Amino acid sequence: AKWVFGFGGGKAEGRATDRNLLGGKGANLAEMSGLGLPVPPGFTITTELCTWYYANGHVYPVDLDAQVDAALEKIGQLTGKRFGDPASLLLVSVRSGGRASMPGMMDTVLNLGLNDETVESLAAESGDRRFAYDSYRRFIQMYCDVVLGLDHEVFEEILEDQKARLGLDLDTEIGADDWVRIVELYKARVFEELERPFPQDPREQLWGAIGAVFRSWMNPRAITYRRLHDIPESWGTAVNVQAMVFGNRGDTSATGVAFTRNPSTGENRLYGEFLVNAQGEDVVAGIRTPQNITEAARIAAGSDKPSLEKLMPEAYRDFVAIASTLERHYRDMQDLEFTIERGKLWMLQTRSGKRTAKAALRIAVEMAAEGLITREEAVARIDPASLDQLLHPTIDPAADRDVIAIGLPASPGAATGEIVFSSDDAEEARAAGRKVILVRVETSPEDIHGMHAAEGILTSRGGMTSHAAVVARGMGKPCVSGAGALRVDYRNQTMLAMGRTFRKGDLVTIDGGSGQVLAGRVPMLQPELSGDFAAIMHWADGIRRMTVRANAETPADARMARSFGAEGIGLCRTEHMFFEGGRITAMREMILADTESGRRAALDKLLPMQRSDFVELFEIMAGLPVTIRLLDPPLHEFLPKTEDEIAEVAAALGVSPEKLLQRTEALHEFNPMLGHRGCRLAVSYPEIAEMQARAIFEAAVEAGKRTGRPVEPEIMVPLVGIMKELDFVKARIDAVARAVMAEAGVEIAYLVGTMIELPRAAIRAHVIAQAAEFFSFGTNDLTQTTFGISRDDAAPFLETYRQKGIIDADPFVTLDVDGVGELVRMAAEKGRATRPGIKLGICGEHGGDPASIRFCEEVGLDYVSCSPFRVPIARLAAAQAAV
Ligand code: PEP
Ligand code: MG
Repeated sequence: AKWVFGFGGGKAEGRATDRNLLGGKGANLAEMSGLGLPVPPGFTITTELCTWYYANGHVYPVDLDAQVDAALEKIGQLTGKRFGDPASLLLVSVRSGGRASMPGMMDTVLNLGLNDETVESLAAESGDRRFAYDSYRRFIQMYCDVVLGLDHEVFEEILEDQKARLGLDLDTEIGADDWVRIVELYKARVFEELERPFPQDPREQLWGAIGAVFRSWMNPRAITYRRLHDIPESWGTAVNVQAMVFGNRGDTSATGVAFTRNPSTGENRLYGEFLVNAQGEDVVAGIRTPQNITEAARIAAGSDKPSLEKLMPEAYRDFVAIASTLERHYRDMQDLEFTIERGKLWMLQTRSGKRTAKAALRIAVEMAAEGLITREEAVARIDPASLDQLLHPTIDPAADRDVIAIGLPASPGAATGEIVFSSDDAEEARAAGRKVILVRVETSPEDIHGMHAAEGILTSRGGMTSHAAVVARGMGKPCVSGAGALRVDYRNQTMLAMGRTFRKGDLVTIDGGSGQVLAGRVPMLQPELSGDFAAIMHWADGIRRMTVRANAETPADARMARSFGAEGIGLCRTEHMFFEGGRITAMREMILADTESGRRAALDKLLPMQRSDFVELFEIMAGLPVTIRLLDPPLHEFLPKTEDEIAEVAAALGVSPEKLLQRTEALHEFNPMLGHRGCRLAVSYPEIAEMQARAIFEAAVEAGKRTGRPVEPEIMVPLVGIMKELDFVKARIDAVARAVMAEAGVEIAYLVGTMIELPRAAIRAHVIAQAAEFFSFGTNDLTQTTFGISRDDAAPFLETYRQKGIIDADPFVTLDVDGVGELVRMAAEKGRATRPGIKLGICGEHGGDPASIRFCEEVGLDYVSCSPFRVPIARLAAAQAAV
């Protein structure tokens, strides 16, 4: 089999489309090389090899060796050098690269091939002993860390000792002889720790690094990351081996990273950072503060360190041209890595750049305007879930700001929380229901769980491309990075800022849009949903087939839903209306009355309240469809619990508290979700359904008069499993409708439908459709009843199931297409068979989940309904599902 694909010298055996085989990095290196861009020659060992390695007990196929040798030979031809030959030294880098970029994987080993002998050739060849030994010590350090499992801190210690001894601050001030000495100390330390010398054979080094990449696929961090991001284990990773180019070869050399557009705002300007006389990891590590690439950015940042544009104008011009070529070629914003060796530019990576949701919108809209992509593509480019970020609050500009530090605006949005200094503390506080800001000197992949748990992240070190910044942007969390004036003291759990000491538990606010860190809590504003957001939404609305409604019952939610573009209400849970103010007492009177007349008396109190709620809802929705569901939850949920509550209801009913307690106990259920709820209540107590129907029809009459527009209510009966249940309730509703129309002397068009949320309802859908004028899939209950797992209690063991690979996703979040989905599909088909054109929708939580929305499009539902904040997500996801 072919395991190795070469690239370099304007040619390549692979291309960008070979991502699955070569990994993202390898495929793009091949593509760039094929485009004739300056890429150091190299080769990629395929992801298939990784899979083979694990399938065959951690060994390599016999033909791999020869293929690697041939590929090394080829690099030699292109560079005029030979791997392992001191007389004509070829050094390489080894990097991992899967289909999806993945923190937690072994990342990079540079300068591979150096040993005690070749380091001298490098010194001689470059005429720079300092450079040679600096490269060697970096190699030892990286190789030990990622291949031999020796923590880099042991080397940092040695380095810090030596700097202290020499009285130096910066690595760059260390001279050649001192590096030679430090390398000796490093090697001695390796021997001490590992009881064997640092490997000198370049081939052993190379195979060691290749093995480390493949082994890192199965390390715990990588496994966790895959689980969090639904990356299958079977994908495997590739290994890229490439001729070294050196950014640390003196002051005409440099290394950097850049985005073709600003990843935070989306502004169409090259945006990046670099370091002179440095190797790749220095930029990301945040040890030295990087310089701006463009002069404009330098001026904007008020930096006194020269830009690349000024410092190395030729390399800068080449870079700008290549950046633009790559963006046009890939038709997307690119994230680039480059190295300049003695004035010559080399490209080390290109990939689609990660960006904030705001930047994604701006880039998509502007690229469509530039004609680079179509509007459909622009819509397809936006991750619906990322819109969440835009719905985040920002700090009220009118608020007083007690600014205690300023860092980089690494990820937008503002957040307030208690200070915690470790990821474990963040997780613990979160579990206890508290909001925290994770404060770290810098973050590493070990902090992922803490970053997930925190409202926002604040670091005192690191740039816009630091770990904290990149990960926070990906998560859509506010982040301020590199707030250099902060002194973070882990030992004492304090943070010193402008002479003030902040302790663990103190409140701070971070503004990821400006980089400010503020003391205390600060007033926030809701986001502005115009501009690029509105443009994409408008395009999406033009593409999608399904309509999007909201689940809302309060006027505030209904207004919010409309402002987010909801085209109606798909579920008004009337029980929520009974929990407000004095209503709960009337409600309790109603359910605890033991006679029909007692119930009717209480219902008479509830009727005007319900009616005015509905009038308001109809007015806000101004002619858009509104689906109102009859009372659904188990009566159990309304029972008074405290003595005071019992006394209050007893007084209202004119019975003794003891008598009431008896009645309460009689209504108690062991399994309320499978108890006396839904249409079962309407069957037992038809007067409840009649009151609600009356409130709805009277409200429709009144709202129709007020707005001059007829209201067509959709009345929904919950938890139907038996056709006769629906027949029974529908007959009551129709009778009330006739009565109200006669009293008011107006005609009201209305629909009566049902939720499909029990397996029996799905199975009998063809019969139920005889009475039901619409179906709304209640996939919360349908999931609960199909799996036989409690929607209120299942989360902990579902997480265990996920970890053990039994399920891929929580079925209460993403519709279980194979099981629950099959019932939905079947019910939709059966419903249509009986009643062609029957209106079909979904109102379970899945109505706001992009993957589930895709399924709804597939089975041809007419609408999805979700909580107001998810309406924009659903609009976009519905558009993406339609193409
Ligand atoms: C459902 O069961 O999916 C539904 C929307 O109803 P509820 O969540 O109110 O039970
Ligand atoms: Mg339900």
